[in-house]
Amino acid sequence: MEWFHCNKCFLRTGSKFAVSSCGHICCEACIKPEQCVICGTSCSYLPITDKMKIQERVFFMDPMKLFQSRLEHITQIADFQRTQMQRATAYFKHKSVELEKRLKEVTQQSYRQIAELKRENADLKSRNMELKQEMAELKKPLSQRRGSPGQFQTNGVQRISLPVAVASPVTPHLRTMRYVCHSHFV
Ligand SMILES: [Zn+2]
Ligand SMILES: [Zn+2]
Repeated sequence: MEWFHCNKCFLRTGSKFAVSSCGHICCEACIKPEQCVICGTSCSYLPITDKMKIQERVFFMDPMKLFQSRLEHITQIADFQRTQMQRATAYFKHKSVELEKRLKEVTQQSYRQIAELKRENADLKSRNMELKQEMAELKKPLSQRRGSPGQFQTNGVQRISLPVAVASPVTPHLRTMRYVCHSHFV
């Protein structure tokens, strides 16, 4: 510490030194109690030793070394925080990949289900059409049915070809019909 000296006699080593509350350094020989020998103000003295508190000791340390030490500490803090950030980033990245994969699976499954339902719907529509046509056919009078006239003419006997649905309800008209058919047949 080439800057270090007694502010009164300029002695640099070989004595005990103290620093005053007004900021002056004095060697043991120059000190006067309760008054600074440099500026004359009433003051207190702090002995300059290794037992000083850190906040006092730093005033006698090399600023470059202090700077390096602080920089190392700051680097440690930054490293610690960066590591924490990397862990969080890795976790959320992994989670994101998993969720994307799951989403893809669910989407594909949905597409498969939709395709299946569309097929099923088409089948049902087609079956529905067939049933409607059958119903329409059944509602037509016998004479208008597809293929029926030829069949009936060939048979010549309507009684035998009558579908159950038409023949079963027993009404006076049908009885007459039957009677007519019978009589016609006989
Ligand atoms: Zn001195
Ligand atoms: Zn002073």
